[in-house]
Amino acid sequence: FGMKRKPFVGGNWKCNGKLSAVKELLTAFKGAGADAKSVDVAIFAPTLHIPAAQECLAGDAAISLGVQNMSKTGEGAFTGEVSAGQVADAGIPYVLVGHSERRSLYGETDEDCAAKTKAALEKGLTVVFCIGEQLAERQSGKTTEVCEKQMKAVIPVVTDWAKMVIAYEPVWAIGTGVVATPLQAQDTQYQVRRVIRDECGSEIADSVRIIYGGSANEKNCKALGDLPDVDGFLVGGASLKPSFTEIITTAQ
Ligand code: PGA
Repeated sequence: FGMKRKPFVGGNWKCNGKLSAVKELLTAFKGAGADAKSVDVAIFAPTLHIPAAQECLAGDAAISLGVQNMSKTGEGAFTGEVSAGQVADAGIPYVLVGHSERRSLYGETDEDCAAKTKAALEKGLTVVFCIGEQLAERQSGKTTEVCEKQMKAVIPVVTDWAKMVIAYEPVWAIGTGVVATPLQAQDTQYQVRRVIRDECGSEIADSVRIIYGGSANEKNCKALGDLPDVDGFLVGGASLKPSFTEIITTAQ
């Protein structure tokens, strides 16, 4: 991926798969021989599957685990929720916040996403924060505006940029097979970095990883990963197959 930031490759399994598939897939991923010095890899497994995944990955420094969602509140009488403190206590280093499916299907607002990010950072978790425009927004030329608004909602709560990864995921590219063109990904991710530069300065903007998500796979990842502002991937469908290892090896 050229001389940039350390690449980050995330696998977002979403609500897919049985417990029995966890070991099979992770064993394949471990076979990639990822070098923790040259790439960060995190698998966002269904929460129920994480203990099995932890057991399978024990001793593997290169592949980490994350949850796909988390409560914006702490512990207490919040039936069905999992708190940041509980995620940290279970030894899980990563959390996805603001995935478009959470935003559109479960009504998560920019404020909710900021509150979750704040709670996660307070407990020392690393946040993969998802942003991205809908198709109609891109078609009406609002992509930068939408991403800027989503970024500006979270920036004020970020206390540790070393624990933030930004995932640009155009909603029209998620699960559709329609990947962003290199020009679209680079243009938008350049703008996202520009917003961070304007708000937080060049040191932070130059070091934060901005990854691409939306129909990324082992075939298109090289062309996208070579772009100056693409520092890796958040991969859905293609992370449910052993060939995900090819994305890891291309990135490192
Ligand atoms: P996809 O999903 O790779 O299946 O498009 C990406 C995501 O939702 O993170």
